[in-house]
Amino acid sequence: MISFTKLCGSCQHQGCCTNSSVPLVFLHDLSGLKSIGKSGSEYLQEVTIKNKKVLAVKKKNNSNVCVFWDESKKMCSVYENRPFDCRAYPFDIRLIHGKYHWIVYSCNPDSDWQWSENYLQSLEKDMELNGVYDDMETFANNTELILPQESQKTPFIILREVKNHKSKF
Ligand code: SF4
Ligand code: SF4
Repeated sequence: MISFTKLCGSCQHQGCCTNSSVPLVFLHDLSGLKSIGKSGSEYLQEVTIKNKKVLAVKKKNNSNVCVFWDESKKMCSVYENRPFDCRAYPFDIRLIHGKYHWIVYSCNPDSDWQWSENYLQSLEKDMELNGVYDDMETFANNTELILPQESQKTPFIILREVKNHKSKF
């Protein structure tokens, strides 16, 4: 079985931390970052998603690199306290035909996500614990994902519908 560690360990570009959209910070994430003194305005910013203000991790000045990326060690400097958004990546939740779906970005050319079901279930438990289910509209950016997939910047695979959420549809 291919493991997550093996895939990311062999990734040469680590675009998730150096060239992706800003990770959102939910309440539970915020307490984790507060506990290590990394929740100030030098690290976090407010962004607006669908008219709602939410916290997100900043980028380093004049770059697309996450403020928490340690360039010398080539790793996240807050790894143990990284937001749920980062723990989930390259998995993501998007609206497809009005329903929340798990997708996975093909960010590593060797990606093979056949093993992902157990991981999705652990993410769904994590979402219950840290309140992501209560704010799915924000997390999923409540915009229909434009298909076909080929039209997207980063290719992705649709895995399955998200379980246990309080659907608004
Ligand atoms: S999540 Fe994707 S982009 Fe990030 S390190 Fe792993 S394989 Fe690379
Ligand atoms: S918080 Fe850490 S894991 Fe998340 S994007 Fe920044 S460097 Fe990467």
